[in-house]
Amino acid sequence: MKTPCVAKCKNQEGICSGCLRTMKEIGEWRLMNDDAHTQTIAQIQGVETTHNCERCGQPAYCAIEDGNSQCWCFELARRDTSSLPKGQCVCRACLASLPLL
Ligand SMILES: [Zn+2]
Repeated sequence: MKTPCVAKCKNQEGICSGCLRTMKEIGEWRLMNDDAHTQTIAQIQGVETTHNCERCGQPAYCAIEDGNSQCWCFELARRDTSSLPKGQCVCRACLASLPLL
């Protein structure tokens, strides 16, 4: 089974600082099929991307922009995004590094 785990797992209020999966993605990982693994890894690594992160400029993936009703960021504890331009999504690494509300 594919896994992006890099054995540096640390739960940062809903997201793993090592592999940048949400706790939900980690919890459901063994129930997901290969296609879902490949897609999730592509989104985390910026292969499948909807925009560039407003903070660091790296490719980021927003599931809402991609036409879904849920996004990975809904799983996380809310961050203080007041330093960001309004209405912009940041990448997983940036969101994980923002202070909690
Ligand atoms: Zn970023």
